This record gives sequence, C-alpha cells and structure tokens, in this order.
Amino acid sequence: KVEGPSVSEELKERYDDLADRVRNARTEYYVNDAPTISDAAYDALFKELEEFEALHPELVANDSPTQEVGGEASAAFAPVQHISRMYSLEDIFSLEELEAWLAKTGENARRIAGEKTRWLTELKIDGLAINLYYRNGKLVRAATRGDGYTGEDVTHNVLTIKTIPTQLAGENHPEELEVRGEIFISSADFKALNERIVEEGKAPFANPRNAAAGSLRQKDAAVTASRPLSMFVHGIGIHPGLDLAAQSEVYDQLEAWGLPVSPYTKLLDTSEEIFEFIAHFGEHRHDLVHEIDGIVIKVDDFRTQSQLGYTSRVPRWAAAYKYPPEEVNTKLLDILVSV
Ligand code: NAD
Repeated sequence: KVEGPSVSEELKERYDDLADRVRNARTEYYVNDAPTISDAAYDALFKELEEFEALHPELVANDSPTQEVGGEASAAFAPVQHISRMYSLEDIFSLEELEAWLAKTGENARRIAGEKTRWLTELKIDGLAINLYYRNGKLVRAATRGDGYTGEDVTHNVLTIKTIPTQLAGENHPEELEVRGEIFISSADFKALNERIVEEGKAPFANPRNAAAGSLRQKDAAVTASRPLSMFVHGIGIHPGLDLAAQSEVYDQLEAWGLPVSPYTKLLDTSEEIFEFIAHFGEHRHDLVHEIDGIVIKVDDFRTQSQLGYTSRVPRWAAAYKYPPEEVNTKLLDILVSV
C-alpha cells in the first residue's frame, strides 16, 4: 500500500508553499519593481505566514520571510554594505493592537528611562528607503536598503536629486554619517509623470511607490534625472561624535545641515494624541504632498531605543500603523498587474 504524506509532512509542505509565495511576491516587488499582487494581498499573506508560525514554532525556518528584511539586492547594481544595519518595521493593522503596543512599549521604556515616553509620530511615506553615506559632510555613496545588510549602489542616480545635498551645510560634521530616508514622488508629480508615460504609449506606474522605485533603480542616471524624485529623512545609522539624546534632535540637526525633513512629524506624549494624529491624517491622506500608507510611531529617546533593541527584522522601539487598504487603489493595481 502506498502511504500518503504524514500530518507533519503535510504541514511542512503547506508552510513551505506559504513562505515561497511571500518570497516570490517580495522578489517581484523589490527586485523587479513589478508587484504581482496588491499590498493589501501581500500584507494578508505575510500575516497568514506569521500566524502559521505562531501555531507551529517548530517549523520556523531561519530564512523565513518573517525573520528577514525583505529586499534582496539585485545583481544589476554594485553591492554596498551598510555600516550600520537597516531594518523594516513591525506592522499594526488595528487601533486595538496599537493601543496594546503603546502600553507594552511605553511600560518597557519607562522601566529603562524612569520617565514617560515621548513618541515621535511620523507619516509612513509610500516610497523606498535610501541610505546616504556622508564622509566629513560630503556625500560619497547612496544605496537602497536591500536585505538590510547589503543594498544596491545608486549613487549616480541620487546625485540627480536636487533636494539631497552633496555637501552638508554648516560645520562639525561627523567623520562618518549614514542618513536614512524615504525616496518618493509627490502626488502631483506622479499624476503628471503617468500622463507623460501614457502619452509616450507606455504602461503607467501602478502607484507612486512603484514609480519612485522604478525611477531610482535605473541603469542610466539620465532617466532618473528626468523623474521628479524627492526625499524626507527618517533616521540615521552610524554617527560617531554626533552627541544627541533623541531622534527629534537629530532631525533638527539634519535640517540645519540642509537635509529635507518632513514637516508633518510631531513629538507626542499620549496615546490619545497619537490616535488623533492617525484620525487627522486618515482623513487628509490625499491632501498631503506625498502618498502615505500609515503612521510610524517611534520612541524618541536614543538610550531607550538602544536598550529596547531589535529583532532580526524590526526595531522593538517603533511600529507602523497601516491604514485600511483603499478599494480604488487596490483594485487599480489588481487590474494593472493582471494585464
Ligand atoms: P514597510 O514598508 O511596512 O516598513 C518599513 C519601511 O517603511 C522602511 O524601510 C522605510 O523605507 C519606510 N518608511 C516610510 N516612512 C517611514 C518613516 N517615517 N520612518 C521609518 N520608516 C519609514 O516594510 P517593508 O519590509 O519595506 O515592506 C513591507 C511592505 O511593502 C508591505 O506591507 C507591502 O505594503 C509592501 N510589499 C508589497 C509587496 C507586493 O507584492 N505588493 C511585496 C513586498 C512588500
């Protein structure tokens, strides 16, 4: 008699299949700039994988997408090792979950700092992460996030973005400085760019994130130069000698050095204020300079950040609240990727 797979083999097969579907979606999205499913569908798939792993922890593979930052560097670009690792963010999909996260993280932070936590609350810009490496104030390299350790060298392309300074203003720059930010295309520029592309008889970009990624990750910097890319800073990596106590202070310093800092960021004290911020920008999300897919909440104090630390994929001192998907955009992408 031929025996079928045992229960555990069957579970393993289901697990491998689910993990592979997440990996394939990531490759299409990060490496090929050609998503095959909508972000909402991807988020649901990723959540399914996390829930599966929570039920069957013995199956969790070291290289599971839940354990890694999801964006391998494409071989089309020279690899760049980040000096300090880049991470993703923990996603939160409901206000109840966010409330619980704020209570838990606030309590852990209070135990470390001995005082109430201040929350740096930012818009989650729908673009792609960039690492700008400055030596003594001069921009020497720019790289995408990649898998968090190794990104893609896009220095020539970034040099065409006018709002990114090649020489920092002022004085006393650290010998080495990694500035992290989000490259994006503003909503107005995205509309105009897609109209131009359609006039040229080409397929339009599915969304501003896709347009930004496709425009930055070009072999020919002249193409990037013709695309309206912008950036806002959202963090730093290595920064020896930059003696500041909080991320909000770093933003002030980076702004003084001429880097573009988001005008929407706010330092908040209570979960009520954070919920108000979420409600406000949920209502006004299409009146902003750029598209957003959520809100990022960060513990402001650096000492607390470093004591809370990181998982293999995300910081424990920050989280991203994601707004519910918008029918129109999700449907549009599903239509675009199916043609
Ligand atoms: P993420 O996009 O959920 O969050 C991490 C990133 O947010 C950071 O790396 C940074 O680039 C960005 N960010 C924007 N504003 C920020 C701010 N103010 N502060 C800090 N970071 C900020 O995580 P991810 O791992 O890059 O990607 C996962 C998401 O990408 C999914 O939720 C999905 O939306 C999308 N995705 C889609 C597909 C698909 O097939 N459609 C595949 C993979 C990923």
